Amino acid sequence: MKLRDLLERNITDFGEYPFLFFKEKTYTNVETKRYADQLAAGLRRIGIEKGDRVIVCMPNSPEVLFAYQGITRAGAIIVPVMFTLHPKELHYIARNSLAKAVITSSYVLQKVEKSMEALPERPAVILSDLPSNEHITNFYDLLVPVEKEFIDDGKADDTAVILYTSGTTGNPKGVLLTHKNLFSNAQNSAKHNETERGTTLGVLPLAHVYGLTVSNVCYLTGSAIVVFSSFEVKEVFKAIDTFRVRTFSAVPAMIHAMVSYPNTDNYDTSSLESVGSGSAPLPVTLLNAFEQKFGAKVLEGYGLSEAAPVVTAHSKRIEIKPGSVGVPIPGVEIKIVDGNGLEVPAGEVGELVVRGDNVTPGYYQNQQETNRVLKDSWLYTGDMARVDDEGYVYIVDRKKDLIIRGGFNVYPRDVEEILNGHEEVFEAAVVGIPDERMGEELVACVVKKPGSNVTEEELIQFCQDHLAKNKTPRKVIFLEALPRNGVGKILKTHLRQTASDIVI
Ligand code: ATP
Repeated sequence: MKLRDLLERNITDFGEYPFLFFKEKTYTNVETKRYADQLAAGLRRIGIEKGDRVIVCMPNSPEVLFAYQGITRAGAIIVPVMFTLHPKELHYIARNSLAKAVITSSYVLQKVEKSMEALPERPAVILSDLPSNEHITNFYDLLVPVEKEFIDDGKADDTAVILYTSGTTGNPKGVLLTHKNLFSNAQNSAKHNETERGTTLGVLPLAHVYGLTVSNVCYLTGSAIVVFSSFEVKEVFKAIDTFRVRTFSAVPAMIHAMVSYPNTDNYDTSSLESVGSGSAPLPVTLLNAFEQKFGAKVLEGYGLSEAAPVVTAHSKRIEIKPGSVGVPIPGVEIKIVDGNGLEVPAGEVGELVVRGDNVTPGYYQNQQETNRVLKDSWLYTGDMARVDDEGYVYIVDRKKDLIIRGGFNVYPRDVEEILNGHEEVFEAAVVGIPDERMGEELVACVVKKPGSNVTEEELIQFCQDHLAKNKTPRKVIFLEALPRNGVGKILKTHLRQTASDIVI
């Protein structure tokens, strides 16, 4: 099965129906396919060939979905890029992927232009919302009316997407994802959760593998998607009310914003049954607060780009265990291993490794990194985890965020859970900074709730009351906000730097 089959099947199985809502506009699945076929023909006409890379870099919009299906129909490879990236990062991706075209919007154009300076060859620039001129082509001007559907001759094991990781550990790496990787993961995610037909919210960036999968699951389940160009909490409530939304996928930062929103009484959210949470740890306090406020479940799952992405998840069929990321979805095997790759006894912490049709064949032109993470067809995730006796997985922390204080391992997440439970803390993140005596010391970076006068001493005392002494932060710094990436993930590398600058 290939990515294009998602849309073909959707139309065969469900007939024509309103598929995509964006602001005042509605597009059916058949219209979506028409745009995709016509774009595929247009891309071929400007010289895009099988296997060529095409970047899509813009806020969520209908054109992003048309582009994904169009690129794949042309036999080319989709390179989704977050529009929030720095021009330097975009430049790196354009150069590394040797992209032949960039599909973007006026909102990002300046950045795209900057990123293309000094590229050996300028890619074609296709704009969704500006008229064509000598440098750019309007998306709709590129469409070529085609008599019958556009057919590529690709295989399920061909690369469909190259997803660049955020590069917190160096230059971004291009994760190769095949049609099979993405198709099987969408199918198994939908199966795991018994996802029903309905209208869901596209609040996650479609440029992220998690957002991409949400759209793929919509095709599979005959669902419709309300596409958001950005996460506006008020608009989210409005859409839940208007479309009687039963479920959607989000990240903890969005769930946090929903819980903190004061005017929920203006909207009827009674249709909401569950919200999926992934991409970053979900504090247990947040899970409880959401369930209490909206009477809807939070189904936490876990995944990573290299696994296309879902590895484990809760579902409406199984008991929710707060703090756990659920159980492996069908078709995905996991193991917890020690530093030598040997399985650890049940309940013990080790590195989570993954195997299945969803696992990437490797990184684009980076054999060294590929060999580092793929061993005997197991993907080494770099995440430390344990599994309980019922098979539920608990992500302890990222291996690289582990703090070694005085020779003892401290997982920041243990401390964050406590701080997030303090009534005057809006949110908290804990990092390690170099320390002469202890090797590393713990610093808590805290955003206070509005109007709070909580002090450093009080928070340190609070941690001492709830945690072992070696897990208590030595220092608390107060910040206006925590730095986050485009999917709302806390940027620990930036925080480590900030903490070091302030503390030392
Ligand atoms: P990079 O690997 O370059 O830092 P990234 O973090 O943006 O990039 P993604 O594939 O988006 O890469 O994120 C995957 C990571 O997100 C996982 O390896 C894991 O550390 C974290 N993650 C995902 N879901 C959860 C979860 N429910 N709880 C804790 N961590 C999670």
